Amino acid sequence: MMRWTIALLLLAGMAFLLLVSGRQSAARNREDKLVISVTAKLETEPVLSAGDAADDVALWVKPGHPEKSLLFATDKKRGILIYDLQGHLKAFYPKGKTNNIDLRTNFQLGGETVDILVADERHQDVLEVFAIYPEIPAIRSIHQEPIQVGMEVYGLGLYQNPRTGRTFAFVTSKQGVVKQIELLDNGHGQVVGREVRRLKLDGVVEGTVADDALGWVFLAEEDRAIWRFPADPEGGNQGVVVDSISPGSPLSPDIEGLAIYTGPGTSGYLVASCQHIGDFAVYERRPPHRYVLTFRIVAGNGVDGVSGTDGIEITSAPLGPLFPQGLLVAQDNENDANQNFKLVSWSDLIRASRGRLSLAAALN
Ligand code: CA
Ligand code: CA
Ligand code: CA
Ligand code: CA
Ligand code: CA
Repeated sequence: MMRWTIALLLLAGMAFLLLVSGRQSAARNREDKLVISVTAKLETEPVLSAGDAADDVALWVKPGHPEKSLLFATDKKRGILIYDLQGHLKAFYPKGKTNNIDLRTNFQLGGETVDILVADERHQDVLEVFAIYPEIPAIRSIHQEPIQVGMEVYGLGLYQNPRTGRTFAFVTSKQGVVKQIELLDNGHGQVVGREVRRLKLDGVVEGTVADDALGWVFLAEEDRAIWRFPADPEGGNQGVVVDSISPGSPLSPDIEGLAIYTGPGTSGYLVASCQHIGDFAVYERRPPHRYVLTFRIVAGNGVDGVSGTDGIEITSAPLGPLFPQGLLVAQDNENDANQNFKLVSWSDLIRASRGRLSLAAALN
């Protein structure tokens, strides 16, 4: 009788171990690492400053005329650049040491709806808020005065709650402090900022992206992990590790730019640039954020390959014949002239992915 009990206990223990190890490999998916290569369709004209200058990008999609969409970018020594989708430089705004940049449409200001662009400036440690005039194209300051962040700023990303319309900036720092600042109308059609929450990670944080529809903000702790937090200030300060740098992990230092390819419902992907090695790691947008694949952007189409990437941006909107299933833009650390940005067609990634990137997510 005793022997049977022990045997049963042993069997139950083994089944439990199998279950646990099975669950771990499903979540981490290590055996499955796949590295694919894609080429860029085209590249932008170089930024104006020499050396490490190009940094971050934001995409404005023109409703009804997606091929006339715009790419906003930072030259972190000098200011803000506007490119068209062919990579031509259309405008430059000398705005200081603007490091990161992001935008949102449908911001309510002075009884009107405006599309806003926000950049963090590292000389004064402020946020600059602009209205976008896409037809010119141009930007114009709409803040009451530059928004003081009250710390040494580094990265920046925006979040807009689709139900309430409340819009926030997440501002990151090399000290790991992340401030959430709500952007508000001061009653006179000017934007002011109000700090609503503070998060704290151990190490340097620059890259950040929000998933507006699902209510999350992702933070890249550069030498450690990608984190997910509730994006609304009332959501609490409990973070979840999406994935961390460890032996066998597809992540490697520095985890820099983060961007989301948004499909219908919860479908789509989270992409992270791993700066030193030049890889881009792709995870599922929905929890538990399973690892999908890794890609590199290699030379082709007369465009040099991408390395040492800082900021990235993605849209899943179809942007005409070159980008029918969306566009990924990546900063390139080494160009044949000053640094610039490379434009990759998401359909090229789907084609190269051997079935791992689903077409369904692109059909929205
Ligand atoms: Ca850089
Ligand atoms: Ca960085
Ligand atoms: Ca290059
Ligand atoms: Ca950077
Ligand atoms: Ca080039």
